[in-house]
Amino acid sequence: MRIIILAVCVLLVKSAYSKSKQYEKRYTIIKTNAQVFSDQVWSVTPSTEEELQFIANLINTPQYKLDSWKDPRTINREINFRVPFSEIPAVNQILQKRKLAYRVMIPDVQHLIDSQTASSGNRRAAVKATNIEDFDYSNYHPAEEVYEWIDFVARDYSFARKFEVGITTQGRTIYALRFANGVGTAPKKAIYVDALIHCREWITTATTMWTFKEMLTKPEYSTMWDDYDWYFIPMINIDGYVHTWTEDRLWRKTLSQTATRSCTGVDGNRNWNVSWGGEGSSERPCNFDYHGPFPYSEPEVRHLSYFIMENKDQIQVLLSVHSYSQLLLYPYNYDSDIHADNDVQLHNISKAVCEAMYKVHGKTYVYGRGAETLYVASGFTMDWAHQVANIPISYTYELRDTGEFGFLLPADQIIPNGQEFLAGLVVLVQEAQNPVASGYGPNEV
Ligand SMILES: [Zn+2]
Repeated sequence: MRIIILAVCVLLVKSAYSKSKQYEKRYTIIKTNAQVFSDQVWSVTPSTEEELQFIANLINTPQYKLDSWKDPRTINREINFRVPFSEIPAVNQILQKRKLAYRVMIPDVQHLIDSQTASSGNRRAAVKATNIEDFDYSNYHPAEEVYEWIDFVARDYSFARKFEVGITTQGRTIYALRFANGVGTAPKKAIYVDALIHCREWITTATTMWTFKEMLTKPEYSTMWDDYDWYFIPMINIDGYVHTWTEDRLWRKTLSQTATRSCTGVDGNRNWNVSWGGEGSSERPCNFDYHGPFPYSEPEVRHLSYFIMENKDQIQVLLSVHSYSQLLLYPYNYDSDIHADNDVQLHNISKAVCEAMYKVHGKTYVYGRGAETLYVASGFTMDWAHQVANIPISYTYELRDTGEFGFLLPADQIIPNGQEFLAGLVVLVQEAQNPVASGYGPNEV
């Protein structure tokens, strides 16, 4: 049956769990007799251009306050969006009237948020980390604990240095760690890893921190430091990250003031000066993919661009880590007709990396050119790094999952996701040193 009637779901009464007051500001939670009605995440797959446009318009209609989780860009590709509890009847009616089938992907958003933050809070109260080895990687950590982790690394590893990249809109410091092992040898090429430009993607910081801990503490990874220097920026959008812990778990953008008083923030992954303002980004400040008033308008992006440009001759590999969808994307995202000059190299590396990631826990990661594998979008870190900074091997990772939990990935998946990421990284380090083949590779999608 094409139309899935969801009245039953809408009326489902969710059990009450302890609710932190902080989320009530943003989420529409109605409590009656200890029962909680929560926002939901729905999934729709448009089969025609008209349906696609209809959903895109619906998501961008301010009245319904819908929050895109998987953007409406191409037909026959799933679109995920969060529906505030108060809008569920109205949006249900609109989709039914349009004869658009949808699936409730996450029936109780609030429950997932609460279980994440409660377990992290309880754990933190019981155990205080003193170094990166006793740091608790099976829970998420707020910004101040990530800062502590950075300090532990800089304190305990003589070949690690902490650098200030820049200051965020609200005055927080963005740090990079630089690892240069092997005193006395010529400077090596470097691999750069960053996380959390989209602040609701908590898994990106958690998984990359675990990965670097493994590399630092396990002898079997010692060669990773021999072949390359490394740069690691675990938190870019720190203002936004703090906001996701205190105000709105599902905030995506920066926290700068826009020209529209009621709408805050810019999409940091649309703000880079590469096809800036082009397809797949929005000029409307209230939209989730607002590209900002001008390129590098966001201090987080601007400072990061300076940092990368300063080190561009050394950086051979740039990995910008996001979630979710289980993808490994290479340039370009802004136009499907433009291929990187080392397209076949990017293809070969990503194929080997995704195969290695699959072997760990059987999770499939799809790889290919961004515009064809994901959708056309402009102003990406990855495209900028390749085209403007001339960093040859440039990727966007989309970590777990494929939609069961989306941005609210349970903390018990941090380490398994890290095991996949690390296995892929080991292969990437080997493959990146292979001679570059010329020509264009196929796209797997
Ligand atoms: Zn992202």
